[in-house]
Amino acid sequence: MKISTMAVIMAMTDEAKPFIEALELKKLACGLGDALPMEVYTGSVEGANLIVVVGGKDQRFGVDNVATQPATLSAYLAIEQFKPDLLINAGTAGGFKAKGAEIGDVYIGSGAIRFHDRRIPIPGFDGYGVGSYKTPDVDKVAEVLGLKKGVVSTGNSLDMTPEDQRMIEANQGAVKEMEAAAIAWVAELYDIPLVALKAITDLVDTDTPTQDEFMQNLKFASERLQKKLTDAVHCFAGEGIA
Ligand code: SAH
Repeated sequence: MKISTMAVIMAMTDEAKPFIEALELKKLACGLGDALPMEVYTGSVEGANLIVVVGGKDQRFGVDNVATQPATLSAYLAIEQFKPDLLINAGTAGGFKAKGAEIGDVYIGSGAIRFHDRRIPIPGFDGYGVGSYKTPDVDKVAEVLGLKKGVVSTGNSLDMTPEDQRMIEANQGAVKEMEAAAIAWVAELYDIPLVALKAITDLVDTDTPTQDEFMQNLKFASERLQKKLTDAVHCFAGEGIA
């Protein structure tokens, strides 16, 4: 499928900054709407329109709008306003040493995107809670760009409770983050392919506290993300997606 408009959804300013600068994207004054904190940047790549939506800051807490609610809203409004034919959720994530992850690795979501903290043990609702949203076939782009592949698992917490860990294992999750499945739900409603691209800031199955490791590696991982995301948008603009 040839791509004419790509919308990249990113939660944090620090994650997005290297990419916005590298592609010299221009900020749209109106954002996604007057009442909303999201920032919108636009540009073009090989003839395709490129939109980047960044979550912006919470008006009371002053921190980045991470996690599922802003991600859902960003995805919905980006789709309605810009009619993208491809969505990309780019950001940082926790990885698993036991699965061979290293800080700075960039993963592309492959197989499915799932929730690990929506536990609803009632027939039907259990599957709904996990979501298991399909990803497009990313084998080729993963190979060309040198990306690791894995199931992305989403929850609303940075830490990992024993229950979360059990669910991530059951989900075969390789990448733990806080937005992808929320966006995947919207993408599925609109039948738009979603590619998740996540750079590893921290290894959740080691003794280092996640928040310390995250802050320490955020800049490095965001630079790595920028490089792979730039390659990916060029690849999608030129060759489209299967
Ligand atoms: N302490 C950070 C909090 C950011 S929340 C701060 O002060 O800014 C973490 C963000 O990075 C989320 O957008 C999430 O998608 C991603 N992330 C990175 N590592 C993660 C992990 N181990 N678990 C969950 N989300 C993670």
